Amino acid sequence: MEVTRRGFMKLAAGAAAATAVGFDVTPAQASIRELKIARTTEVRSICPYCAVGCGMIAHVLGSGARNTMARVTHIEGDADSPINAGTLCPKGASAMQLAVSRDRVANPRYRAPGSDRWEELDWDEAMDRIARRVKESRDRTFVERNARGQVVNRTDGIAALGSATTANEDCYLLVKAVRSLGVIYLDHQARI
Ligand code: SF4
Repeated sequence: MEVTRRGFMKLAAGAAAATAVGFDVTPAQASIRELKIARTTEVRSICPYCAVGCGMIAHVLGSGARNTMARVTHIEGDADSPINAGTLCPKGASAMQLAVSRDRVANPRYRAPGSDRWEELDWDEAMDRIARRVKESRDRTFVERNARGQVVNRTDGIAALGSATTANEDCYLLVKAVRSLGVIYLDHQARI
């Protein structure tokens, strides 16, 4: 039988607890554990917060059937990850809030120049505005050649900043998209 690193740690923790108090508490521990992650599916992921890239496991409740919404019920470090070996720092350990917090902003918001309030936009309207403004800014500020006549094809009027909650795959697509526009001012919150 192949024992994963995570499975080995579970077995070792149960055995240590039983040895310490002189009787077998493994069934009791298992039933407590069952309550929290019962009927969930384990989904492996990477903590999005910083460049360490700790592995984590999200326990997701929900069948994924039509008209149902899956829900994250628990997040823990991935013991099989060579990066963090099952540990998470306090920030990573609270990453579940990214998915379930009632304060999470779920729609695009826009604050007009000089305004003191945010207005909520629907996604289509936000995407139209962004596309229009990117096109205008790029047309207005595109530089084909530098002062020495060398071809540079860059867009000086647009910058891109990735957020800590942008997944690796999203970051990859973001970089590809903005580089294709000629954007050279490109950074990520985790590096600042
Ligand atoms: S758990 Fe902490 S150290 Fe690990 S990637 Fe997340 S923020 Fe960074």
